[in-house]
Amino acid sequence: MPFSPDQIIRPEILALSAYHVPPARGMIKLDAMENPYTLPPELRDEIARLAGDTPVNRYPDPDAAALKAALREALGIPDGMDIMLGNGSDEIIQIIALACGKPGAVLLSVEPAFVMFRMIATFASMNYVGVPLHPDFSLDTEAMLAAIARYQPAVIFIAYPNNPTGNLFDAVEISRIIDAAPGMVVIDEAYHAFADASFMDKLAHHPNLLLMRTLSKLGLAGLRLGLLAGKPEWLRQLEKLRLPYNVGIVTQRIAEKLLQHRDVLLQQAAAIKVERSSMSRRLSELEGIEVFPTDANFILFRLNQDHKAGQVFQELKQRGILVKNLDGAHPLLKNCLRVTVGMPDENTQFLAVLQTLLVKIEAKA
Ligand code: PMP
Repeated sequence: MPFSPDQIIRPEILALSAYHVPPARGMIKLDAMENPYTLPPELRDEIARLAGDTPVNRYPDPDAAALKAALREALGIPDGMDIMLGNGSDEIIQIIALACGKPGAVLLSVEPAFVMFRMIATFASMNYVGVPLHPDFSLDTEAMLAAIARYQPAVIFIAYPNNPTGNLFDAVEISRIIDAAPGMVVIDEAYHAFADASFMDKLAHHPNLLLMRTLSKLGLAGLRLGLLAGKPEWLRQLEKLRLPYNVGIVTQRIAEKLLQHRDVLLQQAAAIKVERSSMSRRLSELEGIEVFPTDANFILFRLNQDHKAGQVFQELKQRGILVKNLDGAHPLLKNCLRVTVGMPDENTQFLAVLQTLLVKIEAKA
C-alpha cells in the first residue's frame, strides 16, 4: 500500500486552507479588485486579430524582450534596473520566497496584509512574521524595527497602498524600514494606478529595494502579468527560479499591444478614482458605518456592533452582490467588509441594497 497524502504532504501544507475564490457567475462582482470596464470594441477587434496571428504552436519568447521594453517605457522603470516578469505578481512573490527560503529564514510583513505573503511563505518553508499595524492602519514603525532587529528577515513585503486596508503608509517610515532591513524589501505597488505615490524613484537609492507591479488592477487581471524591478544583482539570482515560459505568448502579445493604448486603461483608472470618492462619501453617509480612507480601487468599512459583517455579507450575496468579508481575518478587521469600486450603476445598487439591509437589521435589533 502506498502512503496516504497526509503521510507524504508536508504538515504545514496539510494545515493550510486553500485560497478560496467564491463562484460569481451572474453576480455584481465587487470582491476582487478587478477593473469593471471592458475594452473598447476597436481595441477588442485588434486583440482578436493579434491573438489569431499568434503562433501558439511555438513556445513564447522566454525573455519577453519586446514586452519588457514596452513596460520599461510605460512604467518609467529607471535605467540600470532589470525587470523580471511573473504570471501575475503572485508568482513573483513565490519566486522570491523560494529563492530566500533557507532553513529558518523569515518573511516579514504587516498585519493585516495581502494574505498571499503569509501563504507563500508557508509554501516555501519560510517562517512568516506579521507585525500588527496601528488600529488606524498606519505603520507601527517602532514595532517593525524591533521585529527586524529580532528576526533579521530575509525579505520584507510592504504593499503600497496596502490590501485590505487601502491606505498608503508614510513613505519616510517605509524608508526607515528599508534602511534597517538586512535583506530584500519588496514594495508591492499592485494598486499604483489609483494612488499618486510610488517608490520607483527610490530604487536607485537603496541597494536592497525591489519594486513589484501588476497589470491586474489596471484592467488585465485575466492576462496574468506582474513584474519586479530592481538591481541586476538581485534579479539575476531570482531569474534562475523563474520557469522559462511562465508568461504565455498570448499574454505577451496582448499586453504589449495594450501598453500602446495605455491611455484607455488610465482613463478607466481615472473613472474608478472619481467613482471611489463618490462611493466613499455615500457610504459614510449611511448610519452606523465607519469608512476608512483609501488610495486603492476598493474601500474598507466597518459596521457598528449592531450589524454583523458576516450577516450583511451573506444578505448582500443573496441579493446578487459579492463583496469581501474580512471579519475574523485579523482582530484589527473586526466587523469589516471590503468593497471593490465597480461601475457606477453597480456601486449604486450595492449602496441601495446595503442601506436597506442596515435599516432592516436595525429594525430587528
Ligand atoms: N499584491 C497585492 C497587494 C494584491 O492585493 C494582489 C491581488 N489581490 C496581488 C499582489 C496579486 O496580484 P496578481 O497576481 O493578479 O498580479
